[in-house]
Amino acid sequence: EQEVAEYRKSLAICVSGFDVPRPVKTFEDCGFAPELMRAIAKQGYEKPTTIQCQALPIVLSGRDVIGIAKTGSGKTASFVLPMIVHIMDQPELQKEEGPIGVICAPTRELAHQIFLEAKKFAKAYGIRASAVYGGMSKLDQFKELKAGCEIVVATPGRLIDMLKMKALTMTRATYLVLDEADRMFDLGFEPQIRSIVGQIRPDRQTLLFSATMPRKVEKLAREILSDPVRVTVGEVG
Ligand code: ADP
Ligand code: MG
Repeated sequence: EQEVAEYRKSLAICVSGFDVPRPVKTFEDCGFAPELMRAIAKQGYEKPTTIQCQALPIVLSGRDVIGIAKTGSGKTASFVLPMIVHIMDQPELQKEEGPIGVICAPTRELAHQIFLEAKKFAKAYGIRASAVYGGMSKLDQFKELKAGCEIVVATPGRLIDMLKMKALTMTRATYLVLDEADRMFDLGFEPQIRSIVGQIRPDRQTLLFSATMPRKVEKLAREILSDPVRVTVGEVG
C-alpha cells in the first residue's frame, strides 16, 4: 500500500501559470523539423518523458519555465530541443557574435553531460556548442570561444572568467537555462549567477530547472523570470 502511495506521488503533475499551452503526447506533436526528428530517433527516444510532455510545448511557445522534477526524468532534452529550434529561428544575417543559448550547470560533470546532449542535436544543423568549465586550460577555452559558437554550456565560475577575459559577449544571448539551480546555490554560485543573468538582455527566454525549490531559489526565480509557467512532476521536497 505504501508502495502504491509512493508510486502515485511520483506521477503527480502540477502545472501553474496563465494561458499554458497544452501538453504533447509525442515528439511529432512538437512540430520539430525532420532533421531534429531524426536526431531524436537516433538517440532512441521514442516518446517524450512526463516532464518533456509538459515542458516542451511551453518552452517552444517562448515562455519562461520553472521545471521541477527529480534526477533522471529527462529535463535536459526539455530545454535542449527547444534551444535548437530557438537558434534556428534567429535571423541568419546577424552581425553579432557570441552564444545564443547559454546553459549554466553546477559542476563540470553536469556541464559536460549537457554539452554532449546538446551536441547530438546541434550537429544536424551545424550549430556550434562549447563547454566552459574548470579543469581545462583557460587559454584553449578562450581560443575556442573566440572562434565562435551558438551554444555555451558552462559552470558559473568559469563563464565569469571567460566574460572578464572578453572571450565572448552576451549581446546575442536570448535563451538562458539555469540547470540544477538548487545545487548551484548549495555550491555558493548565487553571485556568479546573478552577474551572468545581469549581462543577458532582459527580453531573453529564461528557464530554471531544479530538483527542489528552496526559498532562495524561489526568490531568484521571481526576480529573473517573467510570467513563468511552473511545471512540477512528482512530489518534490
Ligand atoms: P535529468 O536532467 O532530469 O536528471 P536527463 O535529461 O539527464 O535527466 O535524462 C536522463 C536519461 O534519460 C538520459 O540518459 C537521457 O538520455 C534519457 N532520456 C531523456 N529523454 C528521454 C526520452 N524521451 N526517451 C528515452 N530516454 C530519454
Ligand atoms: Mg539534469
